[in-house]
Amino acid sequence: MLLKKRAESEELVSLRYLNTRMELAGKDKFYLSNLEKGYKGEIEFDRQTENLSEERYIIDDLLLQVNNSYFQIDKVIISGGLIHLLDVKYHEGDYYLESDKLYSVKSDREFKNPVIQLKRSETLFRQLLQNLKLNFLVQASVVFNNPEFTLYQAPLDQPIILPTQINRFLKELNETPSKLEENHKRLAQKLLSLHHDKNPFTTLPAYNYDQLEKGMHCRACGSFNTSIKTRHLVCGKCGTSKPVEQAIVQQIEEFKLLFPERKITTQSIYEWCNIEIKKRRITRVLKKFYTAKGTTSDTYYE
Ligand SMILES: [Zn+2]
Repeated sequence: MLLKKRAESEELVSLRYLNTRMELAGKDKFYLSNLEKGYKGEIEFDRQTENLSEERYIIDDLLLQVNNSYFQIDKVIISGGLIHLLDVKYHEGDYYLESDKLYSVKSDREFKNPVIQLKRSETLFRQLLQNLKLNFLVQASVVFNNPEFTLYQAPLDQPIILPTQINRFLKELNETPSKLEENHKRLAQKLLSLHHDKNPFTTLPAYNYDQLEKGMHCRACGSFNTSIKTRHLVCGKCGTSKPVEQAIVQQIEEFKLLFPERKITTQSIYEWCNIEIKKRRITRVLKKFYTAKGTTSDTYYE
């Protein structure tokens, strides 16, 4: 039973928005593409594990704080006899492990060794169980699930599941009977209640309002070459069309995420959308989907 679904992180969504509205530095673009790939890999693994048999709780994307340290686990599978902590990595290409470090064969670039990160999470998770006076068997593994991934010099004793081993891992999991009891339920509820929605380690490049391009960009191709034709926002580049109301709400959500300190008003959204549109059309959308605050002459929305 899936108790918590995965969602795109605020960091990924914010970076995507920034990428359409400003020129990101090379390292930020690289970081964004890594986040995109990572998310794709997690979704792919969700698909691979969605039909597990027997009674199990699944919690995706858990961010916990234990003894003042934060750690994140991509997927927790609570079965009757064992808890799996799984970290999903979607690296593509040839890699090798050398003295605890992970390198790409092609570029010799060093990557964070996910096993070290995983062991830290595992330790903290065990401390959490201890704090809660709960006693469960825990097994942590890094899952490399990109079919184009190869790892050389992988020591046999590492908690790694390679692309060619995923099916076997899932088969073994499915063949192990699992019955959930009250204490499993208590643990799952506790984990959900301890989950943090906001990741304190999110780092975005510096940006300010003036520097960002204003306009209603097309969500399909990113182009700002758009116009409003009666009830639709139409992209001049790829031809995608979308109801204006929906497009305005998306612009408002983008504005809200990038500038949480700025007030949402008809004027601020009008400037943000930067397109030929009647202001009262924006006010209508604000009234319909948001709550008006302040005085009549100084209305803002939340
Ligand atoms: Zn387009």
